[in-house]
Amino acid sequence: MALNPRVIYWFRTDLRLHDSPALAAALDLKPECFWPIWCWDPHYVYRARVGSNRWQYLLDCQQDLSDGIAKLNPKSKLYVLREAPQTLLPKLFKAWKVTHLVFEKDTDAYARSRDEEVMCRAKEAGVQVIVKYGKTLWDPDAVVKANGNKPTMTVSQLQHSGEKVGNIPRPIPAPKCIPDPGDMPLNFEQAQPTPEPDFNSIHRTGKEDSYAKLSGPNNDLAVPTIEELGIKQATTPHRGGETRALAALDKIIKNEQYTATFEKPNSAPTAFEPQSTTLLSPHLHFGSLSCREFYWRVQDVVDNYKGKASQPPASLTGQLLFRDMYFAAQAKMGWSFSQTVGNGHCRFIPWHLRSQVDEKDGLINGEYNIDSLEAEEWFQRWKTGRTGFPWIDAVMRQLKQEGWIHHLARHSVACFLTRGGCYIDWERGAEVFEELLIDHETACNTGNWQWLSCTAFFSQFYRCYSPIAFPRKTDKTGDFVRQFVPELKDFPAKYIYEPWKAPVQDQRKAKCIIKGDGTVETIDGLTAYPKPMFDFSTRRDICIGGMKNAYRAGLYGNSPQVMNRSWPSA
Ligand code: FAD
Repeated sequence: MALNPRVIYWFRTDLRLHDSPALAAALDLKPECFWPIWCWDPHYVYRARVGSNRWQYLLDCQQDLSDGIAKLNPKSKLYVLREAPQTLLPKLFKAWKVTHLVFEKDTDAYARSRDEEVMCRAKEAGVQVIVKYGKTLWDPDAVVKANGNKPTMTVSQLQHSGEKVGNIPRPIPAPKCIPDPGDMPLNFEQAQPTPEPDFNSIHRTGKEDSYAKLSGPNNDLAVPTIEELGIKQATTPHRGGETRALAALDKIIKNEQYTATFEKPNSAPTAFEPQSTTLLSPHLHFGSLSCREFYWRVQDVVDNYKGKASQPPASLTGQLLFRDMYFAAQAKMGWSFSQTVGNGHCRFIPWHLRSQVDEKDGLINGEYNIDSLEAEEWFQRWKTGRTGFPWIDAVMRQLKQEGWIHHLARHSVACFLTRGGCYIDWERGAEVFEELLIDHETACNTGNWQWLSCTAFFSQFYRCYSPIAFPRKTDKTGDFVRQFVPELKDFPAKYIYEPWKAPVQDQRKAKCIIKGDGTVETIDGLTAYPKPMFDFSTRRDICIGGMKNAYRAGLYGNSPQVMNRSWPSA
């Protein structure tokens, strides 16, 4: 160990002080100087699709962490630096005379390539790197190894491999003190971030300028506000930060019956204020809550519960197993996990509207005679909540507004877009979720879209979600729809999920006319809500037929026909 360690702790997916093995390892070095930093990575600023609700959540997490650090040492805080870590860290190593770099392991494909580069630069600079895992219950790489070097494609594979890896570690307490930072000279030449004008144009205005200055507009390395970043205001009621995460977990744990008997399939996707599941996913995404803290707090309740507790995979701890399963699958497959082409575990389906198809080929129309423009129109209507199916529209509008939707609501809209309605590529849907979800996690988003589209993990494609019968099971009066599709708020419950069936006089009485495609707001002075964009039953049968053919063809993302773009039509 260096005599006087000068340590950079690089916060990324672990915006917390409690149960952080990497942070504990950094503090165990007994640093002479300790710099908690965040690098504003242009990959996420420019390339990733990130809506303003997720930006706000991230800033909340950063600010809360910074405040938490300052409480332990008023001379310190989270130092936010605006440059790619690959170029910034080598400069800091030199300028700050750093001896150690410590961070939490991240097995995301981009993160791995970034971290490898940083580790090479650290080696060149003679800086020792310490990496500890803490984002999942088990280290995904260890799970893959225990699974015979294969990706985990079922929860039982994950459970068996996890058992081989060992017990899920108990959480460790938050530190009681944080050492002082050393001097922080920043007068080295700053690399200019490369603008990527084609990506994510929605929130670009101003962001480039605010990014251009390494230490932020006030030279104080402080966590910026959303205004300073030039990002439009968030619309979500959900806010981030470790303090909120731990309070939310406490509240859940206090309700022993809920915690011990939780069964995901029985939770209501139509419940809102409060929702029927924990809504802890954004905290787990940003690491403002440790998943092992969550796991053990729940498991302890289950172990002491006098009644009949629920079991994985439906139980609350079971949900965390799904999360680990997707992380370990992604850890093995790397970049190819997030797409069909080149992915040997993902079935190839000749969707009407595909993502990233050779542009010259355009789209695959096949025997169903759906032209690409029609499918594109369906996609746009799905994305903007104008399909004419109130349940689908309500969910998509909740997603846009609040950035979080219930798991079974995600099921419904994902099934509807892919194999249970539009027959559109899951990658198109995953991109929309990537932009709008606060909890967006590449591993979980990709894995679940593959599950729902029956391209991997799940194959019962004949089981589709009806946009009418499914929500009715948990919400007969349609309160959820009335909340998120206010045009229909006065519709009789009988027609709330199929308003096109209401007689015109009932429509007039409810002050809403069912007509058009959702682009017209009023008709004869009354609010307009669109007609359904297709007949659901007909489309479902067409989709099931298409899936049957695709399964029979048996092509996967790495089949030569798919790799060479010479697949048969639908
Ligand atoms: P709870 O039911 O309270 O579960 C507790 C925790 O377990 C969650 O916070 C989450 O971390 C984890 N979890 C639960 N279900 C799953 C699951 N199926 N897969 C992975 N982890 C799970 N989850 C994400 O975290 N990020 C995503 O980008 C994401 N995209 C999804 C896309 C689709 C199409 C679908 C169907 C699901 C997606 N999920 C994603 C999984 C799941 O819907 C959310 O994790 C869950 O709804 C979050 O709400 P909660 O915290 O109340 O979950």
